[in-house]
Amino acid sequence: MTTSESTYLTLKQTVHMPRLPLEGSLDLTYRCNNNCRHCWLRIPPGAPERRDELGFDEIRDVVDQARAMGCREWSISGGEPMLRPDFADIFDYVTRKATRYSLNTNGSLITPQIAQLMRRKGSKMVALYGATAEVHDHVTRTPGSFERTLRGFAYLQEAGAGFTVQLIPMRDNYHQWDEMNELAQSLSQQRRCGAPWLWLSACGDPERNREIKRQRFDPRDVIALDQPDLSYEEWHQSVIASAAKQSPALTPGIASSQSALLLRNNGSLGSSWHQLHT
Ligand code: SF4
Repeated sequence: MTTSESTYLTLKQTVHMPRLPLEGSLDLTYRCNNNCRHCWLRIPPGAPERRDELGFDEIRDVVDQARAMGCREWSISGGEPMLRPDFADIFDYVTRKATRYSLNTNGSLITPQIAQLMRRKGSKMVALYGATAEVHDHVTRTPGSFERTLRGFAYLQEAGAGFTVQLIPMRDNYHQWDEMNELAQSLSQQRRCGAPWLWLSACGDPERNREIKRQRFDPRDVIALDQPDLSYEEWHQSVIASAAKQSPALTPGIASSQSALLLRNNGSLGSSWHQLHT
């Protein structure tokens, strides 16, 4: 390292990197009141596996232990997490112990009381499988699910709780993709495309896998659909803009072709954005 570089860089050497669980994921249940064609993990609402689910006290204990080890961010998911009668207690406890959280739900079990809880700042993603009851309920194989999800959106809006509409594309709803986007736009300022690659069933059931495969797109279409989310895109553009400002030789066109970017203190380009601020 040259003297001028050492002005900007501080090397911190550690013998062992600490293994901190900074983020945690909680799948509260694998039971779900929907039965989606593409679902890789769902078990029925009354499944005997219910006996094996962690109780509230056990979840509280896990969250406390994880927090003591450094965990500050939680993803809460399922199955349908709101199927648990103690969902509100769990959500309240976990999110009080977190600096950030995300929640995945199909939205059909949101009540006015839960919607009030959802006002807590965080990322709430509610899945939409079609633009009409006909298509949404066809995907979920659950009559009335579209109406119940729309009711969930309405409760969130009434409570003033922000949420993201998560659109899940597959073969049986893709003919409505534009309408799904329009509906999502009318419901919330935030929408995103969820997992277009579709996982195969966790239990390996050949019948379920046949249906999941039937819903899958061509890999090229999956790549086209699986774009980085807007927040990442905005962040990336701001990095490029600031780098271009510091180095006039750097044009956004060149920078945007690199997935990682290093602007050294002398203005030359490298390949790691982590060092951009050194
Ligand atoms: S709503 Fe989600 S968890 Fe439930 S069946 Fe559909 S994909 Fe699976």
